[in-house]
Amino acid sequence: MSIQTSDASSKDYAKALSLIAAHSHISGLGLDEHLQAKATSQGMVGQTQARRAAGIILKMVQNGTIAGRAVLIAGPPSTGKTALAMGLSQSLGQDVPFTAIAGSEIFSLELSKTEALTQAFRKSIGVKIKEETEMIEGEVVEIQIDKSITGGHKQGKLTIKTTDMETIYELGSKMIEGLTKEKVLAGDVISIDKASGKITKLGRSFARSRDYDAMGADTRFVQCPEGELQKRKSVVHTVSLHEIDVINSRTQGFLALFTGDTGEIRSEVRDQINTKVAEWKEEGKADIVPGVLFIDEVHMLDIECFSFINRALEDEFAPIVVMATNKGISKTRGTTYKSPHGLPLDLLDRSIIITTQNYNEQEIKTILSIRAQEEEVEVAADALDLMTKIGTEASLRYASNLISVSQQIALKRKSNTVEVADIKRAYLLFLDSSRSVKFLQEFQPQYIDDEGNVQIASGM
Ligand code: ATP
Repeated sequence: MSIQTSDASSKDYAKALSLIAAHSHISGLGLDEHLQAKATSQGMVGQTQARRAAGIILKMVQNGTIAGRAVLIAGPPSTGKTALAMGLSQSLGQDVPFTAIAGSEIFSLELSKTEALTQAFRKSIGVKIKEETEMIEGEVVEIQIDKSITGGHKQGKLTIKTTDMETIYELGSKMIEGLTKEKVLAGDVISIDKASGKITKLGRSFARSRDYDAMGADTRFVQCPEGELQKRKSVVHTVSLHEIDVINSRTQGFLALFTGDTGEIRSEVRDQINTKVAEWKEEGKADIVPGVLFIDEVHMLDIECFSFINRALEDEFAPIVVMATNKGISKTRGTTYKSPHGLPLDLLDRSIIITTQNYNEQEIKTILSIRAQEEEVEVAADALDLMTKIGTEASLRYASNLISVSQQIALKRKSNTVEVADIKRAYLLFLDSSRSVKFLQEFQPQYIDDEGNVQIASGM
């Protein structure tokens, strides 16, 4: 089976996910060379313990030797779990695949849960393919003779272009026979008899002029360009296992990579590809690059998905799976039992856990100020103080959302700077979750309940 590969990078797909927009200010984990977290760096603020832990994971991935591990980032909402994963992704570099999905994405109508998870796993495994173009020293594979060369000219041009034998034969078998047998080296001078096509190797330099003086007028002299023959070009490109699957799947084909409409891929195709890739690895033609699969809101998965992950982590080609959750003790979906973070104990047992903590006021202020810069919104100093206060009392995410809303309010009054009054208006117009809960408690009867009923106000 000849297997085709493509160059589309899985990272581009991950970048296209909208969940990254909220983290566009993050360009790395903000660590120094000893993996210590700098207070504020690369858009990352505080959360130093978790960032250091993520730095160690980064090293594991970069070394490329450790795969099939599970990492769980657990912590309260808005404490930077996704931000941490994005920082990790940014630090990995282009050649290491990073795939981000949200737990709920697995439940799609087109694909079964296990197919969706298999695709996510295989998007996170890179195959670095090394292609050596066979330009072995001295092997003449294509000859271009400068037509202007006559007996009087002492230099010609000999170019090696391809190992394709067809091309060689186009030039005349007689001539080629002579050359390929002789193994001409870069810097060699050869003579070609125009009439017979006979090739004679003269040596390394035209200094031996008596050699060509002895030749007839109809002889061409060609000097093989120095260096050109010695080049051994090796091209390396990284593709994901999933990309190889898609373009080798007869029902899908290459275009599916762009539409994303890959459908289910037959397991025989994947088995053949695994065998082939293992062969390439054995022959030194390819390296496997285990990347990162990030599953946000992992508690949205159910017990079948968890048991799939447990098994997939044992696979020969497994990425590092980083999961994030803000759930405490809760029910594992698809079961009746409760467990920490809603994860079954066997998966929890094999995971290393990173925890994130709530931010202090100064950290919230710094994050809000970085976000404002990122969104190119000018915020007055006292307005930032107020936003910070809201961030500590409501949530960081709510306060962060107020930035763009207050900017719109400021623009309406023809100001480019967000002032305290703009924040106040935005705060009154848009509820945060705790005010929303209070509001609902008060007006619950007017809303539709789970059974589809609305309690009409009494007296009606
Ligand atoms: P949830 O549990 O609700 O999914 P989360 O822990 O994943 O929340 P994030 O989405 O990462 O939280 O954080 C909320 C916002 O705050 C994002 O815009 C994120 O980029 C930003 N943020 C969080 N932590 C940091 C940090 N340490 N440095 C810079 N920005 C941060």
